[in-house]
Amino acid sequence: VSIDLAAAITDAVERNHLLAEQRNIKVVSAAEPGVKIRGDYEMLTTAIRNLIENAIVYSNPGSQVGVGLREVEGIAEIAITDSGIGIPESEQERIFERFYRVDPSRSRETGGTGLGLSIVKHTALNHGGEVRLFSKVGIGSTFTFRVPIENQES
Ligand code: ATP
Ligand code: MG
Repeated sequence: VSIDLAAAITDAVERNHLLAEQRNIKVVSAAEPGVKIRGDYEMLTTAIRNLIENAIVYSNPGSQVGVGLREVEGIAEIAITDSGIGIPESEQERIFERFYRVDPSRSRETGGTGLGLSIVKHTALNHGGEVRLFSKVGIGSTFTFRVPIENQES
């Protein structure tokens, strides 16, 4: 099935609507129209939703979360950016493992299980893609979810 990623992003943002409102976070999306990949709509939307949820939960009330979509060199790239607490370099590989959370005592109030990012990674690999992370403690994080468009039928 051909998935319109801009539509999946709109859905993923909508699924975080209440959480964003509760935490007073503004989610701003800028999606290039017409970027399509073959895949599973529900899996993709859930993965994007998980990334946006993390961006909202791990940043300060009153800040903004950005969601972008563009096509670069045959790759559909979704970027989720926050100006939140950031992730230490020593933890950046492990956070994709199931149940792994940075400093559980600090993040206990957020009540997560540590599964969100393992699902994101699994979904990216399932679609022939990858997840990249750029983060600095105290500055914020950008996750990019990248899936190749090449050789995909629409
Ligand atoms: P859930 O299963 O509810 O998603 P979770 O958010 O703890 O629980 P993951 O989404 O897998 O689990 O994230 C793993 C850990 O990575 C988080 O507990 C948090 O410490 C860290 N993390 C993830 N995203 C961010 C982010 N945008 N900024 C800072 N830390 C993050
Ligand atoms: Mg999460």
